[in-house]
Amino acid sequence: SIINPVERPQVTQQLSENVILTTVDDLYNWAKMSSLYPLFFGTACCFVEFAGMIGSRFDLERFGMFPRATPRQADLLITAGTITMKYAPTLVRLYEQMGEPKYVIAMGACTITGGMFSADSPSAVRGVDKLIPVDVYLPGCPPRPEAIMDAIVKLRKKIANESIQERQQTQQTHRFYSIYHR
Ligand code: SF4
Repeated sequence: SIINPVERPQVTQQLSENVILTTVDDLYNWAKMSSLYPLFFGTACCFVEFAGMIGSRFDLERFGMFPRATPRQADLLITAGTITMKYAPTLVRLYEQMGEPKYVIAMGACTITGGMFSADSPSAVRGVDKLIPVDVYLPGCPPRPEAIMDAIVKLRKKIANESIQERQQTQQTHRFYSIYHR
């Protein structure tokens, strides 16, 4: 229905506040999605495909991205490879050392479900989302660089539509994960 600002001044005031908030969200999200810095991270064969992304053929830098060697400078974790029980605390530590806001792409069957190790290996984590929150799941064994690009595009769309408030709620959820797995 049409709101008459003369009859409903409080509605007009709320509307203007929300418009400003939305604009801040848009600007903030644009900055975040245009300069994602992935951690230079890989634990198994999926990393070979991720490394292929860095070369000139697939050109990761076209997204404004370049892998960082330290989690302190990274805000995207692409979990390329199997995560073992022994390695799980280190993965959580690396994630916690990354700056906010931060994102996770779970890459490959091993990371998402334990993959071929899930049937009879006691050492593989059956899903990295039991350790840290995941934003995009990228199945495959291994996913090709084109699929990684698709996952990055999906992540950028997700970032473009999120609000600062929602992101804070995700961070609170992560505190639960982290405490639970210590
Ligand atoms: Fe290797 Fe396949 Fe597991 Fe990736 S999903 S780490 S390619 S076995």
